[in-house]
Amino acid sequence: MEIRNFSIIAHVDHGKSTLADRILELTQAVSERQRRDQMLDTLELERERGITIKATPMRLFYTAKSGQRYLFNLIDTPGHVDFNYEVSRALRACEGVLLVVDASQGVEAQTIQNAYLAIDNGLEVLPVINKIDLPNADVPGAIAELEEVIGIPGDTAVAVSAKTGENVEAILEGIIAHLPPPKGDPDAPLSCLIFDAMFDSYQGVISFVRVMDGTVKKGDVIRIFSTGKTFEVDKVGYFSPAPTVSDQLGPGEVGWITAAIKDIADTQIGDTITSDKNPVSAPIPGFKPAQPVVFSGLYPTDSEDYPKLREALEKLSLNDAAFSFEPETSEALGFGFRCGFLGLLHADIVQARLEREFGLGLIATAPAVIYEVERTDGSREHIQNPADLPEPDKIARILEPFVRLNVYVPEEYVGNVMGLLQERRGEMKNMVYHGRRVELRYEIPFGEILYDFHDRLKSLTRGYASMDYEPLEYREGKLVKLDILVNDEKVDALAVIVHRDKAYSLGRKIVDKMAEVIPRQMFAVPIQAAIGGKIIARATVRAFRKDVTAKCYGGDITRKRKLLEKQKKGKERMKQLGTVEVPQEAFLAVLSGD
Ligand code: GDP
Ligand code: MG
Repeated sequence: MEIRNFSIIAHVDHGKSTLADRILELTQAVSERQRRDQMLDTLELERERGITIKATPMRLFYTAKSGQRYLFNLIDTPGHVDFNYEVSRALRACEGVLLVVDASQGVEAQTIQNAYLAIDNGLEVLPVINKIDLPNADVPGAIAELEEVIGIPGDTAVAVSAKTGENVEAILEGIIAHLPPPKGDPDAPLSCLIFDAMFDSYQGVISFVRVMDGTVKKGDVIRIFSTGKTFEVDKVGYFSPAPTVSDQLGPGEVGWITAAIKDIADTQIGDTITSDKNPVSAPIPGFKPAQPVVFSGLYPTDSEDYPKLREALEKLSLNDAAFSFEPETSEALGFGFRCGFLGLLHADIVQARLEREFGLGLIATAPAVIYEVERTDGSREHIQNPADLPEPDKIARILEPFVRLNVYVPEEYVGNVMGLLQERRGEMKNMVYHGRRVELRYEIPFGEILYDFHDRLKSLTRGYASMDYEPLEYREGKLVKLDILVNDEKVDALAVIVHRDKAYSLGRKIVDKMAEVIPRQMFAVPIQAAIGGKIIARATVRAFRKDVTAKCYGGDITRKRKLLEKQKKGKERMKQLGTVEVPQEAFLAVLSGD
């Protein structure tokens, strides 16, 4: 049977997941009873947040108008700016992509970025203009933007409504006509790309693979290329959407392999699986390891959970190659881990998954970029944790990472966006008109767009702006360390690095927020912000602790219990600093909006 492997790429909210659902219905991969909206978004969290975090592979069958039957592998991908790494992994398993563009919005930041990712990987692009049911849909406008901005021909574009299902079948015919079938030799030595993996406590590592050449089946002895370790294949199969066992996987096929791999370090995403008897001489090229760019500390609220946290991080990192971690100790928080993420959304999701899937209570410290410090003795080092900054008299200069930032925005909001970018120390490089939109090109410190930038951008443009960024070099900045003192004790886990001109306002904001979220104690607790030894802002948590049950003395016992439980629950994300109980929110005070 002929195969087509494809991915759906798009700017966030342009309708990838909805389109994937329609395609699944048309190919009857899912029975009506199984159906639910956004089938492919399997992680519980994704459904809540309405974004696709993990790419999911899925096998489908389609009988074309010609009568010929085809096997499709559909790999849904995430669209958020933090998750480009997941996108490029998914693309490595495909020959083509559907590039979805919302006809009412036109080409946006991630449309361009994802399209280039596909083109750079040598994939064929089939444009899909979606949401034609909307009254303000402009199909010719969207096609013109694709041609003009990305430079792909619009004549193969298919206009559809993923919502109503209108014309979606034309996409399936378009896939057959315009996306190439996989190449590959069933008799060549086995070469399989691991593009994702999961850990299951019974089966061990479940590797998601794309077979390039050769065939793999139960009982085969496979070898992991990078480590040379060998394993006997336990099962192979595909997703339909539930994992389904099959006899074998051949060239061009996408599926999964289990081989009683218990040690997580034995499979790395991006690695090649080959045959032990007849191995390939070189691994599959072209995989770029993801670079975490934002770091924060994760600490168990209950210090006895430290080993459990380590195990959870190991399992999670297998499923999420873009995430890194290493042990770190904090005077205030004890033993924990310094974790690297692709962005704030990614950090949020990892913390939520650790809590939900592994039942851990966690405190996260404020995310920070990596700084570079040049000491007075000429040595240089990277600082992942602001608390590790040397004493001021030992620092010659501090450098911070810059990014090239592109913002796409309708013309009427350009003034608002430029104001925001200036406030964030951005420097304008260019301004380009693309049909309905303006592209603003800036160079800006990465740390300045880390926290609430995206939200502010959206609110200043009524949701119409979109953005992407790529790293530039490190540049010197007038940066200082802002220390936070709780009850006159400096708390290492709360230190942040900030531009000198913003230190006062940020210090004020942090202490005010902390005083607001730290519960009242038996005594007054001063919260201070300091640079060097100098206090620049101060707030106080007033004394008096509310007895939550006092109000219902003699009253309804269930209500009393509920209140106690509520109070207990509130404690899960608290950490004792000396005699003061500090909730999670206080550690993230630096992130709170203006
Ligand atoms: P994704 O972020 O690209 O996966 O986008 P989703 O599939 O989650 O869709 C984003 C929003 O657009 C959802 O509210 C969908 O219901 C809506 N949507 C998707 N396709 C269409 C369409 O063809 N017409 C209309 N009117 N809405 C659509
Ligand atoms: Mg989606």
